[in-house]
Amino acid sequence: MNSDAAPVRKAVRVTGTVQGVGFRPFVYSLATRLGLSGFVGNDSAGVFAEVEGAPAAVAEFLVAVERDAPPLARIDAIVSKDIQTNEIPGFTIAPSEPGAQRTALISADSAMCADCLAELLDPGDRRYRYPFINCTNCGPRFTIVADVPYDRPNTTMAGFAMCERCAAEYHDPADRRFHAQPVCCPACGPRLSLRYPDGSPAETGDPVAAAAAVLRDGRVLAVKGLGGYHLAVDARREDAAAALRARKHREDKPFAVMATGLAAARQLCEVGETAARLLTGPRRPIVLMPRRPRAVAAAVAPGNRQLGVMLPYTPLHHLLLEAVAGPVVLTSGNVSDEPIAYRDDDAFTQLRGIADAFLTHDRSIHIRTDDSVVRAWDGAAGSGLADGGVAGSELTEGGVAGSGLAEGGVAGSELTERGREMLIRRSRGYVPEPVTVRHQFPRPVLACGAELKNTFCLAKDDRAFVSHHIGDLENAATLRSFTEGIEHFGRLFGIEPQVVAYDLHPEYLSTKYALDLDLDTCGVQHHHAHIASCLADNGYDGPVIGVAFDGTGFGADGTLWGGEFLIADLAGFERAGHLAPVPMPGGAAAIRQPWRMAAAYLRAAFPSGPPSGLDVVKRNERNWAAVTSMADRGVNAPLSSSAGRLFDAVAALLSVRDTINYEGQAAVELEQLADPGETGSYRAEVTGQGPFIIEGAGLVRAVTGELTVGAPAPLIAARFHNGIAALIEDGCALAAERHALDTVALSGGVFQNLLVTERATARLEARGFRVLLHSRVPCNDGGISLGQAVVAGARDRAAR
Ligand SMILES: [Zn+2]
Ligand SMILES: [Zn+2]
Repeated sequence: MNSDAAPVRKAVRVTGTVQGVGFRPFVYSLATRLGLSGFVGNDSAGVFAEVEGAPAAVAEFLVAVERDAPPLARIDAIVSKDIQTNEIPGFTIAPSEPGAQRTALISADSAMCADCLAELLDPGDRRYRYPFINCTNCGPRFTIVADVPYDRPNTTMAGFAMCERCAAEYHDPADRRFHAQPVCCPACGPRLSLRYPDGSPAETGDPVAAAAAVLRDGRVLAVKGLGGYHLAVDARREDAAAALRARKHREDKPFAVMATGLAAARQLCEVGETAARLLTGPRRPIVLMPRRPRAVAAAVAPGNRQLGVMLPYTPLHHLLLEAVAGPVVLTSGNVSDEPIAYRDDDAFTQLRGIADAFLTHDRSIHIRTDDSVVRAWDGAAGSGLADGGVAGSELTEGGVAGSGLAEGGVAGSELTERGREMLIRRSRGYVPEPVTVRHQFPRPVLACGAELKNTFCLAKDDRAFVSHHIGDLENAATLRSFTEGIEHFGRLFGIEPQVVAYDLHPEYLSTKYALDLDLDTCGVQHHHAHIASCLADNGYDGPVIGVAFDGTGFGADGTLWGGEFLIADLAGFERAGHLAPVPMPGGAAAIRQPWRMAAAYLRAAFPSGPPSGLDVVKRNERNWAAVTSMADRGVNAPLSSSAGRLFDAVAALLSVRDTINYEGQAAVELEQLADPGETGSYRAEVTGQGPFIIEGAGLVRAVTGELTVGAPAPLIAARFHNGIAALIEDGCALAAERHALDTVALSGGVFQNLLVTERATARLEARGFRVLLHSRVPCNDGGISLGQAVVAGARDRAAR
């Protein structure tokens, strides 16, 4: 290093989630180590710094500031410029400007870091076995923040005065707890207790040991976590899992399991490379993976070949799992469809009849967040999936999009090399990180999302803040969570919406809420929102061929859509083609009872009557004629082009399931039935000069044909999946011919099905299409709000 060269000075600006994540002490120690003088500080735009010293040292600083940034930092951009040297020695941290932090970003909650874990397990440490240990690099964030700026008085740690030793750490720039707002210790911080359902304390020594005993006894334990209460049972005990199911009124929907560590997770499931990275990363989602036989009680995930597993993310989880020394069911603390309980009094009221004991504490949760759920994909299906690189290179040329990628790139860079993450539910550990978009929103937007798996989105400038998972907007408690969440996000990020975007479905509570506001309105068709969401997720403007396959959404013509090929950009769309509409006999009843869709599809596939002897007909003989006639006459049988309903029909035909107990259950189980090694496929006919029409009934005819000659169900299920991929390919090929487009966006809940997504992507890429998939928001209705927001922004820009 040539230290004789004349010193240089640079002004550096870092934007992104760079406050409250230890960025200033990091810059301080980096600059000090490199022998640089200058200062670092926070302002409303992020972190600013000036560094002065030998050119090589300054250059190294600029590289390291990005490369070695603290784990919770999410850097959007680093900009530097040369300025006059001033030869003032020393490096300092400048005080924050008061009131300047409203646009500063609050980071998501993060799993306990390795340093804190080491302290937790060190008998010599003053925080030995202290369940609230945290530092600048880890711990609660979003769930404890009540207001901005992100300072202790604005968090639920406000009531805990720091002791002298904690205060010393908090104020020491060289300490790894410098400005860690939730810093605390056994002397000054929150305390754990084990309580009976009536709230009275259990007379025990160590609450963790006593809680572990409750679990080992096969009883149900409520555990206060980061974003709410969980209900826990020993995952190996059939009786305990069954009791929890009965008390929670949850029939089939799988429970998630927490394993003590990665090695333990491998005993429960086949853990791929990508899954392992997700399991051990700071976000700690529930990762859905193929389960090993008999690893946990059957009642944990009845009839399911997958199991959702997560690893401990709080110090309390570590202590509890260590004490139990085995996998523990950890499911949302609620009764069936209510939101997860997060306030202590609510939890004791709601969960009294379910939990035998409560492991709780006195640090309140300010906002509820459920565990996030992801699927991992090792990119086995093919090239393009694993790297996402096509999109990347094109976007970087666009310049602006660079920031969007950088943001997504945090998750991306860890994962894109060999695999990818597919979000099913985006909540704890991810929220409130914004999605950075290519174009500024001319006016702040509130997007209200859809009905099921609701999220909302508040957007301003070039950022879209997609909310945590709110849930199904079907009851008062969820609706309250929705409206309170909107107010909270508005306050935290300083966004007062002037435009509200909403789904066209007039009966959605989110739509009614939107139309009651005194704001400019922007109605967005459901499937257009899906495709726009995928575009925003990829930092791409379109136009594209958008394939939106889902359960149902309100169509622009007032009928139910769900198997759509759209030519879409952010501002608008045209319906290029769709699945042939089929009646849904009984309306909503047809969604709950897939056998009704089998009846409707068999009618369409065999106008003169289906082959005799089909099991689905025998099982439902009593109601078959009535339902078929309902479909024929079109009475209480709305037409729908939904792809989800086609999956339902085939699931019932293959005797997977006649009725469902949770949304999408039949399709989930059909995917699991399919033999992944099978490559044969069924074909559906494509007709029509205007919008083309794909006859889904053709697949049903093929399924029925093979069924009647005794082909095994796993083979038929696989050929059906491949048939869906083939019809996506056919539709896209036709749309490409007519509209001269070569990029396809895949969105909608059907693409949670990895088999369909893999096979469709492989076929499309083999044809030379570039394929856009989701990575930052779910492809299901949880991603709708982002799509609505960017559509509103695009229309606002066009109107100016
Ligand atoms: Zn830590
Ligand atoms: Zn302390």
